[in-house]
Amino acid sequence: MILLNKTFFTIYPFTYYCLKGDTLFLYNTLNGERFIKSNCDKNILDIITKLYNTNNIGMVEVNPEKFNESALCFFKEIKEKLFGDIIHSINGEFNPVQIPKRIHLSGNRFSEEILFPDKSKGFTQIKELHFFIMSKYKFVPGNNSLYRQFLTNCNFKDCNQDLKFEKFRDLVEELMSYELSIVTLYCDDIFLYREYEKLFAFLNNLNIKIELVFSYEYYVEKYSQIKKSILNPNIRIILHHYNLKELEKDFCTEVGLNCFFVESEQQFNLVEENISEIGIDNYHIAGIYNGNNDSFFESAVFIELEDIFEEKIDFQSILVNSEMNRNDFGKLIILSNGNVFANINNALIGNYYTESLDKILEEELKNGSSWGNVRQRVAPCSECVYNCLCPPISNYEYVLGKFNLCKIFK
Ligand code: SF4
Repeated sequence: MILLNKTFFTIYPFTYYCLKGDTLFLYNTLNGERFIKSNCDKNILDIITKLYNTNNIGMVEVNPEKFNESALCFFKEIKEKLFGDIIHSINGEFNPVQIPKRIHLSGNRFSEEILFPDKSKGFTQIKELHFFIMSKYKFVPGNNSLYRQFLTNCNFKDCNQDLKFEKFRDLVEELMSYELSIVTLYCDDIFLYREYEKLFAFLNNLNIKIELVFSYEYYVEKYSQIKKSILNPNIRIILHHYNLKELEKDFCTEVGLNCFFVESEQQFNLVEENISEIGIDNYHIAGIYNGNNDSFFESAVFIELEDIFEEKIDFQSILVNSEMNRNDFGKLIILSNGNVFANINNALIGNYYTESLDKILEEELKNGSSWGNVRQRVAPCSECVYNCLCPPISNYEYVLGKFNLCKIFK
């Protein structure tokens, strides 16, 4: 029997590749090297398309004699830059294979088997719980829907009851036996909460991270009462500065984090001045869109290509990005009336006072629009070669209804 020599093209399993239209992008996850080629010719497009076909097991038979000049240059570059290789099999009876590290995206919802290998342990995926304690928020800016860019800035008009303490306690205790690692409480005027004593007694005995979010004004006003109530070193205070005013150093330095929300360059500079004057380093400044500050917002929030590749991205992160939204996954937001959201800007997924957590999680897995909402599913990111490397969809994007807050793909 005469066996013919064969030549194959492969992309190494540590190289991520993405083809959109006639644009090919390659990223070497070992050394961070990247390569993009637009207007790829038909030879190249055919080969890469065949690589996507799982039946080819990562190898595509090619005939270099039929390559034009452009294809030859392309394959030379791919080989030199260690993205892939041309392999000759001499008198080979068997075709070589290369198992690609690629989750097959079927177009259905994200793979439940990957996220919930044991369905009976669905709870293990809940890592963060965010609770709103009160039905009314005095210090939080208000009902402008644009403020939902930050969960902490939400003021819920329709919440007609305060948190049921027993329900809160039971849920936290149940999830602590799985993977729950952090509970955040949006407190506002916490001493008006009827069950605040029980609440503090419970929090003071918890052995996980707890965050209490207060407005700066409230914290200053109720400082001694808050200090007296907190006895657990696991409790971290986060202060929100909604109004820009002179700050007292002591209040700002002793808390875990100061968050400033700014809507203009001037506000940003003012906060920076204030911060350097009083000398604090535990702060975060976030740009906020108010409907009239496009250019400031763009400069503060929009990402550029270099932001995406600032740090090396490993293959695992790319695969995770292709399946789940890391901003939202494993997080539940529970309003004081029991309403549960996987993201406050997306649909309600249930009510914890009236439904089981199992049922609520199932709703998010089957029909939800948060945990599995990845960039491949929204336009125009779905057409962008960077969609699995780009940071996950954020609340900014949900609030603005625009999914490409970037300077890359208009
Ligand atoms: S279009 Fe979307 S995926 Fe592409 S860079 Fe912009 S935000 Fe990221």
